[in-house]
Amino acid sequence: MQDTTNLIQGRTSLWEVVIGLEVHAQVTSTTKLFDGCSVTFGAEPNTQVGFFGTAMPGMLPVLNHVCVDQAIKTGLGINAQINQFSVFDRKNYFYADLPCGYQISQFTRPIVGEGYLDIDLENGESKRIGVTRLHLEMDAGKSTHDLHPTKTYIDLNRCGIALMEIVSEPDIRSTAEAMAYVKKLRTILRYLGTCDGNMEQGSLRVDANISLRRPGEALGTRAEIKNVNSIRFLGQAVDFEIQRQMEILEDGGKIAQETRLFDAGKGVTRSMRSKEDAHDYRYFPDPDLPPLRLTEERIEKIKATLPELPDAKQQRLMDSFGLPKYDAFVLVSEQEIAAFYETAVAVSKATNKQQAAKQIANWLMGEVFGALNREGETIETMRLIPAHLAELVDLILDETISGKIAKDVFLKLWETGKSPIQLVDDLGLKQITDVNALESMIDTLMLENVDKVAEYRAGKQQLFGFFVGLAMKATQGKANPAIVNDLLKKKLS
Ligand code: ADP
Ligand code: MG
Repeated sequence: MQDTTNLIQGRTSLWEVVIGLEVHAQVTSTTKLFDGCSVTFGAEPNTQVGFFGTAMPGMLPVLNHVCVDQAIKTGLGINAQINQFSVFDRKNYFYADLPCGYQISQFTRPIVGEGYLDIDLENGESKRIGVTRLHLEMDAGKSTHDLHPTKTYIDLNRCGIALMEIVSEPDIRSTAEAMAYVKKLRTILRYLGTCDGNMEQGSLRVDANISLRRPGEALGTRAEIKNVNSIRFLGQAVDFEIQRQMEILEDGGKIAQETRLFDAGKGVTRSMRSKEDAHDYRYFPDPDLPPLRLTEERIEKIKATLPELPDAKQQRLMDSFGLPKYDAFVLVSEQEIAAFYETAVAVSKATNKQQAAKQIANWLMGEVFGALNREGETIETMRLIPAHLAELVDLILDETISGKIAKDVFLKLWETGKSPIQLVDDLGLKQITDVNALESMIDTLMLENVDKVAEYRAGKQQLFGFFVGLAMKATQGKANPAIVNDLLKKKLS
């Protein structure tokens, strides 16, 4: 059956958007793919490159097996076929920032074959996106054209760094799905520890292939937008490209198969070059590298090190704490947040664990995320520790403080890092639950407001809130609301 949810109405017809993404993910490793040079980000230009990276004659590549293991781990994390036999090929092209004139990559026999990942849509549902392959390749260097009026500067620090190119099937049907795919992939890579996912440092870059077709037609001609380095830009680039292609097609034009660049300043894509075909690169197996053979044992060993991945963790949080799907989804979006959350729940002394779990989730997603945004901090840099959040929630649940007072305690807690119990003590914020004390306070209030009491008794029921307000004010908000309500009901009737 035709899925019509994502169709776009143009001037003359309905259009279906087809997107396939190629993600370049920098492998987390201390050294490069074929030599021992460091991969530290932000070092002085050309200080992290050696004889191999500068293509000195006679230099030979030596495969870094840490990077191979990382690729295997990633493949397993995206439910993919691990190929026990793969081959390194030379992809020939001549760029100033690639001294040897070819990139070592994998073409016909990649290390990882078909897999998939489930993306999370805004309506709470998920959709499976196929992954075609994952292959290992080395990065090129970096050319900078705007440091000198007539010269180009070249930094080879990046040349030779290991990348995983992860290619999706053309299963993606909208801008939102494209963004969700990159988010999910990045989360999985971070959980696995195989790529840090820092898009602003270029550790994760996206090439977006986009085409349109009328529903039911064969795939249309695609344009490829290269090197998008943020999820927001990806959204803008795809949106722009959909509109551009739709206008051309509706006017009876043809889409050129080309490579385009996204100009973040202007929010548009511009043509860079017509698209190369595989034969333009004259691929051939690298004669300096033997085929890569993986034993079953090696793959199994890596499989045993896989952490619990986001989907499984989300399901577990829902099952064991009764969390709503959305809460669980937000909490597992980053491993550090999930760990903070689970520790807080574990150390909570509340008798009703499920209630504490839900409250801790609310506080984390509300007050804590709010404070992080406001202060520009992260879960790693903030002063708040899981035990303190748990303690705060415990104080609310055992009625030592009200939810309202708890917000004040939270602000102090955030600033000082002191324990909630101590803060409540120091600031004298403990909820007043002493019935006798509250009773005499209410007696006084009633004496001071005899006219209002009379009005209430004469039938003006809405005055009840007025008395609650007075009681809270008289105790700086510390009176236990339930006891105050009971007492007022009794005394006013
Ligand atoms: P290349 O290696 O030349 O970039 P591939 O055929 O390997 O080309 O495809 C690269 C990406 O383009 C894949 O993610 C694939 O899903 C996507 N793709 C292929 N055809 C289309 C199309 N007609 N529209 C959108 N995406 C496409
Ligand atoms: Mg491509």
